[in-house]
Amino acid sequence: MATFTLIEPATGETLRTVPEQTAQDVDRAVRAAAKAFDGGPWKQMNTRERGRVLLRLANLIRENADSLARDEARNVGKPIREARDEVDLAANCFEYYAGATNKIGGQTIPGAASGVLMTFREPVGVCGIIVPWNFPIAITSWKSAPALAMGNTVVLKPAEQTPMTALRLAELALEAGIPEGVFTVLTGPGSVAGEAILTHPLVRKLAFTGSTEVGKRVMELASRDIKRVSLELGGKSANLIFDDCDFDRAVVSAVSSSLGNAGQDCCARSRILVQRSIYHRFSKALIEAFGNVHVGDPLDDETEMGPLVTAAHRDRVLQYIATGRSEGATLATGGESREGAGTYLDPAVFLDVDPGMTIAREEIFGPVVAVMPFDSEDDGVRMANDSQYGLSGSIWTRDVARALRVARAFETGNISINSGSSVHLEAPFGGVKQSGIGRELGLAALDAYTEWKTVYVDVS
Ligand code: NAD
Ligand code: MN
Repeated sequence: MATFTLIEPATGETLRTVPEQTAQDVDRAVRAAAKAFDGGPWKQMNTRERGRVLLRLANLIRENADSLARDEARNVGKPIREARDEVDLAANCFEYYAGATNKIGGQTIPGAASGVLMTFREPVGVCGIIVPWNFPIAITSWKSAPALAMGNTVVLKPAEQTPMTALRLAELALEAGIPEGVFTVLTGPGSVAGEAILTHPLVRKLAFTGSTEVGKRVMELASRDIKRVSLELGGKSANLIFDDCDFDRAVVSAVSSSLGNAGQDCCARSRILVQRSIYHRFSKALIEAFGNVHVGDPLDDETEMGPLVTAAHRDRVLQYIATGRSEGATLATGGESREGAGTYLDPAVFLDVDPGMTIAREEIFGPVVAVMPFDSEDDGVRMANDSQYGLSGSIWTRDVARALRVARAFETGNISINSGSSVHLEAPFGGVKQSGIGRELGLAALDAYTEWKTVYVDVS
């Protein structure tokens, strides 16, 4: 069987080799998943028992948390502290949806007196899930857990760069008691294994996280046989900072909410919009804070930012930095790649950014922010909404009424007030505009993995 090599971003050395699966492998896995679905043990399982199996998987993730976090940190290059949080989120996610198996059902509906009208919520079937390289085990879990909880079967492809934790999860799933064929992980590039999932006639639903460009391809191929689609795509989120904010906290959060996972985060607040009266002071504090970020070995507990995921991706980010300079923005700090092994890049702050510039409009997906001034509340909102994306964002102010006014006016799926957080396991997460379709997490995620069936009984 063909294989491909994973490179450790921190060292540039080979981490391991993994199988490069073909369209035939995908076909075999999807057929097995269809067989496991149709009258197979998973859909038929008592819901209480299905919940128990998922809870066992949550516990197995916890028992293996240290080594999973280490694998994730080495494979993605992310700081071990962030990798631990990610693994914890994966365990919490299986635990949460384990509890949903026997709580989500249909309704009886008052209709005509001569009949009984009721609904069932049924699984969709085989779900083809494709995930990216930035949060591999978290995103794998927050799609698979609700799919499995509702009785679907899953064929999942991790990003070719970062399959390690998804492969481990598939082993743990078997150990937890998830039957063979119910949760299969296939590794390989998007152009082969990915496209084979998108086009397989037995796949009924596609769930994708990644670039908007590939998201469009997912929709296009899904249209052939009307597969269900949910998409979580790019972002260019705004951090809107008013002059009455808690200044020091806003600075700390502006750093963590743009440099977490080295900025390789669809929720990164990469557009920092600061009210003009504090623009100068804030920019100065931000530049200093970026300079103090501890960039280094992902396995070191002190590390705040690791390398970028691959050399090719660092080149892409460096290209954006060059574009920013050539379009006239001022690179105030960082933006240099480090000498030696590892795909390191010093975090960069751009000032004198015009909202029309490439670095203010396109998702860079790296440790690069554009800082721009705004005048009134209306100006700030207008600038925040001036984007093809709408995934996340933050508002910093002590004025509660203004915070809620602005939150309501933000064109986005998620917004935090006086916080840089985006993902809350128990609440819906997803984007508007070109940031995606559908919601993940919370009970809202179950909509993506169920069909309503309406049953009418004539009792006259
Ligand atoms: P990508 O969209 O190409 O890859 C995401 C996943 O899709 C991977 O598993 C990949 O193998 C698969 N894929 C790629 N082409 C496919 C195809 N034709 N058919 C089926 N599957 C396919 O993302 P990328 O190229 O690794 O990263 C590029 C940019 O995407 C980033 O710089 C960033 O802007 C964005 N991105 C966003 C997220 C997010 O969380 N929303 C994650 C990763 C990347
Ligand atoms: Mn790609």
